[in-house]
Amino acid sequence: MDIYPEIKRSEIMSKISGKNTKPEMDIRKFLFSKGFRYRIDDNRYPGRPDIVLPKFKTSIFIHGCFWHAHPGCKAATLPTTRSAFWEKKINNNKLRDERNIEELRKNGWNVITIWQCEIKNMASRKNRLEKLLLEITDKSFNSENSNDH
Ligand SMILES: [Zn+2]
Repeated sequence: MDIYPEIKRSEIMSKISGKNTKPEMDIRKFLFSKGFRYRIDDNRYPGRPDIVLPKFKTSIFIHGCFWHAHPGCKAATLPTTRSAFWEKKINNNKLRDERNIEELRKNGWNVITIWQCEIKNMASRKNRLEKLLLEITDKSFNSENSNDH
């Protein structure tokens, strides 16, 4: 049955379901191993964050660079064919992401986006996950985002 090589298959899966792809599982496992408890795909929150840490009022999105237009990322390059179609589609995704993040932040949530290119290989993933711990636990780390007074 498995006619696709690993990478291709997870790409296809993420296009179909957008959920439960391998990078997400790795991040969940990592957080769990550090003692964090979380909810997944919680649709009570704007944008249905991939991971929600209620105790830290933190929500985490794990975004594919292409579908969510990672700024300045090579993997976010639009195809040259049907470029108007792709531009519109990706731009809609981007606007929706921005709205969801804004909505969450307005409600006092710490919002973290992890890009797929940041966790592609072991070395970069290790760095990203270490930074993630800080982003979750150290409020001052995200102080530029907090505007609740
Ligand atoms: Zn990227």
